[in-house]
Amino acid sequence: MPRRSARRESLEALPAVGRETDCELCLRPVARYTVHHLVPRAKGGNHGPKAVMCPTCHRQVHALFSEATLAKELNSIPLLQANPRVRQYLDWVRKQDGGAILRVRRANQRG
Ligand SMILES: [Zn+2]
Ligand SMILES: [Zn+2]
Repeated sequence: MPRRSARRESLEALPAVGRETDCELCLRPVARYTVHHLVPRAKGGNHGPKAVMCPTCHRQVHALFSEATLAKELNSIPLLQANPRVRQYLDWVRKQDGGAILRVRRANQRG
């Protein structure tokens, strides 16, 4: 397991725009989105490709993978979508309400 970098991308600092768009990862229309640097800024991706993601996807991606892994192996939306751990998350998130900002947390109760 790669050690988690101390220079993680600060999600709170990313722009959030109150306009409806589709998250590029889960493809849900969301009222608020953030911009993910596909090659993290800490790895020289400041001017690289970006993706629009809902805050839920964005948090999940950074919770699952280190910046080194994102930069090297998961630096495009199709690569992210093909990753088994991301697919598992997407299966779950697509069952949730569109646009809801969900906490990325293991459910401790099942309905
Ligand atoms: Zn999303
Ligand atoms: Zn990001």
